[in-house]
Amino acid sequence: MTQMKLAIDGGEAAVREPLPPALHGVLEIGEEEERAVVAALRQRRPFRFLNKPEESDAAKLEAGYRDLCGSRYALALGGGGTGALTCGLIGMGVSSGDEVIIPGYTYIATAAACLVVGAIPILAEVDDSLTLDPADVERKITPHTRAIIPVHMRGTPADMIPLMDIARRHGLRVLEDVAQANGGTYRGRLLGAIGDAGAFSFQHYKMITAAEGGMLVTDDETLYRRAAIRHDSAMQFWREAEGGADEGGAWPSFAGENLRLDEVRAALGRVQLGRLAGILERCRGIKRRLMQAMAEVAEYAKWSPQRVTDEAGDCGISLSFFCESPDAARWSAEALAAEGVGAGTIYNRQIPDRHIYTHWDYVLNKQTHDTTGWPWTAARREIRYEKKMLPQTLNLLGRCVTLGISQRWSDEQVEGVAQAFRKVGGVAGSRGL
Ligand SMILES: *Cc1c(COP(=O)(O)O)cnc(C)c1O
Repeated sequence: MTQMKLAIDGGEAAVREPLPPALHGVLEIGEEEERAVVAALRQRRPFRFLNKPEESDAAKLEAGYRDLCGSRYALALGGGGTGALTCGLIGMGVSSGDEVIIPGYTYIATAAACLVVGAIPILAEVDDSLTLDPADVERKITPHTRAIIPVHMRGTPADMIPLMDIARRHGLRVLEDVAQANGGTYRGRLLGAIGDAGAFSFQHYKMITAAEGGMLVTDDETLYRRAAIRHDSAMQFWREAEGGADEGGAWPSFAGENLRLDEVRAALGRVQLGRLAGILERCRGIKRRLMQAMAEVAEYAKWSPQRVTDEAGDCGISLSFFCESPDAARWSAEALAAEGVGAGTIYNRQIPDRHIYTHWDYVLNKQTHDTTGWPWTAARREIRYEKKMLPQTLNLLGRCVTLGISQRWSDEQVEGVAQAFRKVGGVAGSRGL
């Protein structure tokens, strides 16, 4: 075992220059994006429905997602991944007071999407995959459950085979939250194309960006039409103007809002979609190298890697491992940080990380935008939230150290990060950590 003096003990850091941040598409914005955005501006028709589908960047971005996912329908949204989730839920016919099972470890937007459409988010545990624990999902099902939202966290796929099996057995709809795993796969299928619908995000922190925006994909025509109606208060009108009647059947009629994607951001998103495969390939390669380095010391350091449900489908944008105790996790994260590697513990009471349910104050306290208390007043049984309600999730996150990976790290930087793992892991065991 290499026994070099740790940076945390005053030794030299394994990575001396700051690493590029663990961001993806946003770091790739370059001349192609500039040209596409300027071209879209010069059209002077940012409103997508003024352009024929063959001229519209929004329509072409949707076509790109239909191809990528092999889905029949795709709906581009200016309203982000959150808008994709709300439209997906409305599309599925989720209604006021229906229960929707979500993991306690996801961005707060997953819970918010349920609430704004009147659904009650029911929190379930994650397991050592850091995604929904199928056994707990099954325990949380009641006669009022309507849907499940598996979240593919930090690029790693949720365990879709058992989750789909549970959903089918109980007659539940499945909406995949793919905001953090755009381009990932599970058993060879694109994430987002396995459940009844998939919701993507093009926000700054995601795999690719359209500045803001999202995409909903589905094979279900009714779901698509209902989602599209929700995303534009006059959707029926634009469809009729396009001769939508020939698609067969009537469009449903109810009030929507404006979650449309504009042509300028769509143009940016299209260029970024072309970069997705390259970002994935590079991140996956980096993660494989780091996993090898970690494997050399994992046993000695008592580090157990996150269980990745499909290694080939992992986006490779994060590397997480569990220590035996929260103290060991804190020490490992600090020692890695001292080596110049921005690893951190996930659950730390000091940091209000909105990815962990304990920090979702408006959910836990049932705070709403008005004084009626809706949608909790629509719940069909008493719903209680407590900070300690998901002990397995807190136990796992409390012992977890995670590192974000960027395609922008050079080979030399990756070797430095690998060296940091060898150094810190090589010492951790001897310190009883
Ligand atoms: C980012 C994110 C969302 C919301 O996406 P926006 O584009 O910010 O609305 C939803 N779910 C998860 C898991 C996310 O990470």
